[in-house]
Amino acid sequence: MKAIVSPYFDVRGPAKFLWRGHFIEHPDVAQRGNQIRLGLEKAECEIVFPSQAKLHESMLRESILAVQEPAYVNYLESAWEHWSRMENASTEIFPNISPNRHLTQFNESPVALAGWYIADGAAPIGEYTWRNALGSVSAVIEATSYLKAGELVVYALCRPSGHHACRDMAMGMCFLNNAAIATQELRTKFSRIAILDIDMHHGNGTQQIFYQRSDVLTISIHGNPTNFYPFYTGFENERGRGNGEECNLNIPLPPGTNEASYLQALEKALAVVSSFKAEALVVATGFDTFKSDPLGCFALESTSYNQIGRKIKSLGLPTLFVQEGGYFVEALSENVRQLVTGFKSV
Ligand SMILES: [Zn+2]
Repeated sequence: MKAIVSPYFDVRGPAKFLWRGHFIEHPDVAQRGNQIRLGLEKAECEIVFPSQAKLHESMLRESILAVQEPAYVNYLESAWEHWSRMENASTEIFPNISPNRHLTQFNESPVALAGWYIADGAAPIGEYTWRNALGSVSAVIEATSYLKAGELVVYALCRPSGHHACRDMAMGMCFLNNAAIATQELRTKFSRIAILDIDMHHGNGTQQIFYQRSDVLTISIHGNPTNFYPFYTGFENERGRGNGEECNLNIPLPPGTNEASYLQALEKALAVVSSFKAEALVVATGFDTFKSDPLGCFALESTSYNQIGRKIKSLGLPTLFVQEGGYFVEALSENVRQLVTGFKSV
């Protein structure tokens, strides 16, 4: 099994993160990348870096623009340069005013653009954000090329993650939606694709991008957003719209959810993937469902990921794992190893 690793998998992430009104150390620390790679190596994956050609921005741009808004992509590319020219500008862009139901005029000031395009305090943009985001995309694009050539499973190690990124909005550590970009790329070979999001948090960006599409099923199993990030999405009544009606399924679970309850929810999700007649599966893969995760509230054990891997394999579909969250660094390599070995064991 190949694991495609972003060339920037182990670089320093953003410095700060706004959490309950405090600036704290950003949870996407460099060790995350190293630990995930270590887990992939322990699971005997073949580590592959994207080829230089795939890293070329112009080659990635077309794939990105298939799911992301052009003006937003231009913003991400130039945001830090414009911001840093302001007097007394911070080294990372945080929105300090945001459009809302009463503030709706578009304005091109760097401060206004930050509020327009960045939804929260978890996705600061620094000098290297665009480069790192492109690195994640290069990993998933390379991974899709192997799946299109007939490989049955590939893992893409992306940093930053992508599942909170909407068509034209960054949030929750995400800038470009790697899983959505990969899915659209896979559509050239597979006519119906399911995205299963097993990160602790609702995959709101992926849901938004495909909400009106009938060719892509989006399913997310996550913490109940009633009092949990991302708060405004992830409820059961979000079922898709127009052509996409009944092609979105949210399975919110309560704090403290253990392995038995989680696997029950997973089985329900997998049954829906089967009845959708998906030809390929993209798994937005987070490990923040682990019992000790600082940003999670579930109670999964390391061995739970082995069970999750086995169950996903039982679908028998070409599968792409795309890295999302997981912030308890000490258990990350073991959790990755368990998921991959579980998948490979059946
Ligand atoms: Zn998460």
